[in-house]
Amino acid sequence: MEGRPFNDISYERFLSEDKLMGSRCQKCGSLFVPPRPICTKCYGSEMEWAEMKGKGRLAAFTCIAIGPPFMIKEGYDRKHPYVCGVVELEEGVRVVARIEGVDESKPETIEIGTPLKAEFLHTGEGEASTTFLAFRPS
Ligand SMILES: [Zn+2]
Repeated sequence: MEGRPFNDISYERFLSEDKLMGSRCQKCGSLFVPPRPICTKCYGSEMEWAEMKGKGRLAAFTCIAIGPPFMIKEGYDRKHPYVCGVVELEEGVRVVARIEGVDESKPETIEIGTPLKAEFLHTGEGEASTTFLAFRPS
């Protein structure tokens, strides 16, 4: 794991292993999820992997009725929208993820600040398999 490059491919590989990983700058301590190879605060390039606990709160969200092709394939459309949210992790970083377990047909019932827990949704098989990061109320 230490040898993995700090990029989206590694991030997704960790997700497939049920791990939410970010990179931490060894110089200034800034945290990046998904991981970045270069610190945007101090431009340091000494990064280390940091595992997130997967707990956070809903910071913002939007209900998406017309999603990307892979979501349409999963059966999401105008009648079945899904929720995409910004989650503020306990570690202080914000990640974008799918929000599960909320009533997407009644967005007014979804509350900012709701405590959430990370979940890893595995779809497809073999080469075509992907893992989506999702959060649901804890
Ligand atoms: Zn830094």
